[in-house]
Amino acid sequence: MAKIKMTTPLVEMDGDEMTRILWKLIKDELLEPFVELKTEYYDLGLEYRNETNDQVTFDSAEATKKYGVAVKCATITPNAARMTEYNLKEMWKSPNGTIRAILDGTVFRAPIIVKGIEPYVKNWTKPITIARHAYGDVYKGSEMKIPGPGKAEIVYTNEAGEETRELIHEFKGAGIVQGMHNLNDSIESFARSCFNFALDTKQDLWFATKDTISKKYDHTFKDIFADIYEAEYKEKFEEAGIEYFYTLIDDAVARVMRSEGGYIWACKNYDGDVMSDMVATAFGSLSMMTSVLASPNGYYEYEAAHGTVQRHYYKHLKGEETSTNPIATIFAWSGALRKRGELDNIPELMEFADKLEKACIDTIEDGEMTGDLYIISTLENKKKLNTQDFILAIRRHLEALL
Ligand code: NAD
Repeated sequence: MAKIKMTTPLVEMDGDEMTRILWKLIKDELLEPFVELKTEYYDLGLEYRNETNDQVTFDSAEATKKYGVAVKCATITPNAARMTEYNLKEMWKSPNGTIRAILDGTVFRAPIIVKGIEPYVKNWTKPITIARHAYGDVYKGSEMKIPGPGKAEIVYTNEAGEETRELIHEFKGAGIVQGMHNLNDSIESFARSCFNFALDTKQDLWFATKDTISKKYDHTFKDIFADIYEAEYKEKFEEAGIEYFYTLIDDAVARVMRSEGGYIWACKNYDGDVMSDMVATAFGSLSMMTSVLASPNGYYEYEAAHGTVQRHYYKHLKGEETSTNPIATIFAWSGALRKRGELDNIPELMEFADKLEKACIDTIEDGEMTGDLYIISTLENKKKLNTQDFILAIRRHLEALL
């Protein structure tokens, strides 16, 4: 069989530890035998980030702007322990943070659903995709401990030096205050990323805040979403047969619990932080969560939601057998290849992406899986495979489909 040809390169961002091992296995066994892979390679492994003073991360983000689609391996975010382990010149920032700041994107996380890994919420038969607004609110807040009686106010001083004041509280005793902000620009980008992604994946979009209590702050989020929807997306949504649905956050939570899934839930920063972990846990496993950074300008970066699986890597280095789940990383590749196929009009590439995903699901549903799934799967004929054998099992399923 002739290999599938690509026209535009994918931006390939390699990474660290066990996921770097997976990355190579996936390319060798599941991609390169079938696709004439065209990628522009950036090594975001910590050693090379350190060597280039992190320039490689910036370059990879700029390349994503140029080509439109990237696929990223999990990377180490340095902390004190990594400074010594890798003898770092500096505590380099999280690559995901750097890339997100350059692309101005929103992260969409969705679970991969397979038979035998049952969600804790029985009626969740379709994935729930969480979109988290990753700017501002409590994450960029200022806080103060109030030691005793006194007045706390919000003061805004405009460029002409004129002040506007708002009383927070007349303290009679000790307490606490917090000030936080957001930017209309950032909320608008978030809204556009969400509307585009809903159109892209043909799913309804839900958004919720506490606008009844927060009549200016949260209400601004609600208004910006509503205005952009009316002006730019309403017709497109109607054509696509999908819906934009706004409700109060407490009502949204109740509806989510009763729903069957199959929609995007856009969340403010804190709500998204909390809800994405809840949804991931309820669907069974972090190793089965995909993640896409979608920018309001239509750039996409696909990755797994999990980290570099450090513990398995140390076992691997000692020559011990590992059973690391490659599914989310494979889906990052399939997502990126499908998007490339869509943009470049290469139907065979899109079909390959579908079959690769189906091969992953078939393999697990036939009972062959990695250790993390083995302990939670309800299948009776299940078998635990090591990292390499599991990828080879997927390859067998893929070859049968092609
Ligand atoms: P992790 O996601 O690597 O691991 C968390 C837990 O989940 C571990 O118990 C691990 O064994 C398990 N797990 C995760 N993915 C798995 C898989 N594919 N198969 C089997 N088990 C899996 O997160 P961590 O341990 O907190 O972090 C390790 C490193 O990853 C850190 O250096 C961190 O900075 C980095 N990290 C990177 C990203 C990213 O690049 N997007 C995200 C999170 C963490």
